[in-house]
Amino acid sequence: MYTVKDNHISVCHVVALPYPGRGHINPMLNLCKLLSSKKPDNTLLITTVVTEEWHGFIGSDPKPDNIRFATLPNAIPSELVRANDFPGFVEAVNTKLEAPFEQLVDRLEPPVSAIVADPYVVWAVRVGNRRNIPVAALWPMPASVFSFFHHFELLKQNGHFPLDVSERGDEIVDYIPGLGTTSIADLPTIFSADGLKTLDRAIEAVSGVADKAQYLLSTSVYELEAQVFDTLKAKFALPVYPIGPSIPHLELSKSPPTDHNDLNNWLDSQPKHSVLYISLGSFLSVSKSQMDEIVAGVRNSGFRFLWVARGDASKLKDSVGDKGLVVPWCDQLRVLCHDSIGGFWSHCGWNSTLEAVYAGLPVLTCPIFWDQMPISKQIVEDWKIGYRVLKKKVGAAEHEHLVSREEIAELVQRYMDLESKEGKEMRKRAKQLQETCHGAIAKGGSSDKNLDAFLEDISRGHH
Ligand code: UDP
Repeated sequence: MYTVKDNHISVCHVVALPYPGRGHINPMLNLCKLLSSKKPDNTLLITTVVTEEWHGFIGSDPKPDNIRFATLPNAIPSELVRANDFPGFVEAVNTKLEAPFEQLVDRLEPPVSAIVADPYVVWAVRVGNRRNIPVAALWPMPASVFSFFHHFELLKQNGHFPLDVSERGDEIVDYIPGLGTTSIADLPTIFSADGLKTLDRAIEAVSGVADKAQYLLSTSVYELEAQVFDTLKAKFALPVYPIGPSIPHLELSKSPPTDHNDLNNWLDSQPKHSVLYISLGSFLSVSKSQMDEIVAGVRNSGFRFLWVARGDASKLKDSVGDKGLVVPWCDQLRVLCHDSIGGFWSHCGWNSTLEAVYAGLPVLTCPIFWDQMPISKQIVEDWKIGYRVLKKKVGAAEHEHLVSREEIAELVQRYMDLESKEGKEMRKRAKQLQETCHGAIAKGGSSDKNLDAFLEDISRGHH
């Protein structure tokens, strides 16, 4: 434990290393703020390490005094990002940042007590092991997806690898410990032929945690995936701490919106639970013909909507009608918690899903790829708090997967119906999950206790 000479205060110095992508940086920053809120005195210092490029985006965001930033050089060619070259991007992160990070860790003062790293930064555990610094992996997806990767060999042994969704998507997978039953079509798409380029890294990420990290932190909530966590805890020698939902709920409770911008004014003027919030995610999601049906279906449903659309928002504004707003970005968690919002159409990113649970909203799921498939399954089949919009791509020709505007309008109406028996029951379950989630982060709840235990571990480790 480092001792500041002047006042003899021991400082636990945590280095946080997120993967350079929004869906990974956000939960890491939220964890930093949660840890910071537990130790507002000067016994904890957190240095969050991001690339210079990301520092430009987030460096000036408000943060507590005991969180600071340090940067790594911009070693990821921006043309890879522009070209949406995901495998190229992953490779650059894996090969170009390890040495600068290790040099940074050596230079930092006070000496580093623990590294909290995204497992996708696969070299972080190596650096920690070489420098004799404990590493906590923060898994930013559902625990169930961690388990899929960890039990990857079982898919092979059962003849389910690579996944053949179109021919065998209905087949059941019931041999992954802690996961119950799932269909092939609901497994992460990385296991199919398209995803193979990045599969090795995912497997490496997960096995790096199991073999070399000292802690596994999860952005999930124990009660949301209890069986999976129990299995992982029984199997792993290292402590497994679900600390979620790692979403910006602290900001929400601290600062009520004072900003009377157009969006807040508009939300304030809508009837309770009347607005469908639509966000289809950061990546291009559906085909043009499917998008046309979605736009017409939402318009024809007659419901009010708030649509977050990056890129070609003006075209969307022209075609979607006048019952709603189209905006390029919003403070999503705050919006989801606004009284006027009655539903959430989501691409099923994990952070968005945790935010929906926190806000007590059912979800219209529109998964496209990656972990969005199992997350949609969790929402619709396990938690029973949503309906799926797009069909699973099983067995039929491409055009037969298209969901028509009539089907979409009808589904939106059914989903937004607050009075039907089915709608009431679904909303009741969403409220129960919300209570569970709020209970986990309240004092003495499962996530709160896990954060305390983790802080205690890393502080003690350096006495
Ligand atoms: N988000 C936001 N405003 C928007 C759209 C998204 O604040 O207009 C946030 C959202 O609240 C979530 C994150 O961006 O925390 C997206 O993460 P997620 O895992 O849901 O999806 P990804 O974009 O990583 O697929």
